Amino acid sequence: MNILCLGAAGFIGSHLTGRLLSEGHNVVAVDYYDDKIKEWIGHKQLTVIKQDIREETWGLSELVQESDLIIDLIAYANPGLYVKIPLEVFRLNFTENLKIAQICQKFNKRLIQFSTCEVYGKTPTSILNGHILDPDNPSYAKFGEDTTNFILGPVNKHRWIYACAKQLLERVLHAYGIEHEFNYTIIRPFNFIGPRIDYLLNETDGVPRVFSFFMDALLNGTQMKLVGGGHHRRCYTYIDDAIEAIYRIVMNPNGVCDREIFNVGSPENEISIRDLANTMRDIYSQEFRQDGIPLPEIVDVSPEEFYGKGYEDSDRRIPDITKAQTLLGWEPKWDTVNTVKTTMSYYVHEYRDLYEDQLWKHDIFQKALTSE
Ligand code: UDP
Repeated sequence: MNILCLGAAGFIGSHLTGRLLSEGHNVVAVDYYDDKIKEWIGHKQLTVIKQDIREETWGLSELVQESDLIIDLIAYANPGLYVKIPLEVFRLNFTENLKIAQICQKFNKRLIQFSTCEVYGKTPTSILNGHILDPDNPSYAKFGEDTTNFILGPVNKHRWIYACAKQLLERVLHAYGIEHEFNYTIIRPFNFIGPRIDYLLNETDGVPRVFSFFMDALLNGTQMKLVGGGHHRRCYTYIDDAIEAIYRIVMNPNGVCDREIFNVGSPENEISIRDLANTMRDIYSQEFRQDGIPLPEIVDVSPEEFYGKGYEDSDRRIPDITKAQTLLGWEPKWDTVNTVKTTMSYYVHEYRDLYEDQLWKHDIFQKALTSE
């Protein structure tokens, strides 16, 4: 297939580009940077176009017409950004993505649109303030693509602008499907992690996700911060499992993915952020720690202190993956510990040298040195 991949050089896009090339597809990769797809540059079936899709005219219509399938991964998907630049989050995640969908619809091309598990928002447990029997029952947090109601916070908690933008986009795609037989598939990722998830050291992305904050703390000897006590839970999904599901959606056997929404995630991998911090610290201590260097403290911080005003959190989200299991025969294979360990190993090897110069400036290391 000729595949146009928009946002190909992000975390998911870079892994997907590798897989599509290895399966023999021709890929046109569009992104405003190309660092994460460097290893494939020069591949004869890959065309890289460095482009900010927000610019007015840059030939998207022509590229869509030349493609059999369009995959749209363009997004701002880091919670720190939802609070800092909500208008730009709305513009990129809704307005710009809608333009792409409209061009696909105009030329009758299939679109795979990446959305988010954030559309589900919060659980009933979180809003019923203790007036619920058996509040920890996972069934309250198990979200199904076509059955679960969405619970988002108030407007002044503007973190939800991301979820809201993605939800609106999904609804518009659905409406195009009904009124114009537009062929789309929506993917809702549940906390994918793996190599290249975010940069550390605040290099480019500015506000990484929790894994990178914790990894940065481990390498740098600074504190691991638990926002709001670290009680919130996530299901971490190893990127290889995710790419397997996505590739099956790309291949769309017998059209089973036409106008469907898929959760992609590992329901068995649920972990609280507090347990994630402890697990990462334990793994670091056992596998990667350098002699004499102390492990970071784990401390509590308030959401406002960490993210600023307007932040609110998804308390818990577990994907119901029955649809992907039955229609695609997909099963995630990676457990939490191996997922986290493999991702950590990548960062330790990529970044340790970079950190080495800085480490010794820290008080914590100076103390370690003088006490030896
Ligand atoms: N979080 C934390 N410490 C950090 C960064 C994030 O406790 O240094 C929390 C955050 O409040 C949320 C969870 O970790 O409850 C996951 O946040 P992330 O930024 O990875 O993205 P999300 O899963 O919310 O999309």
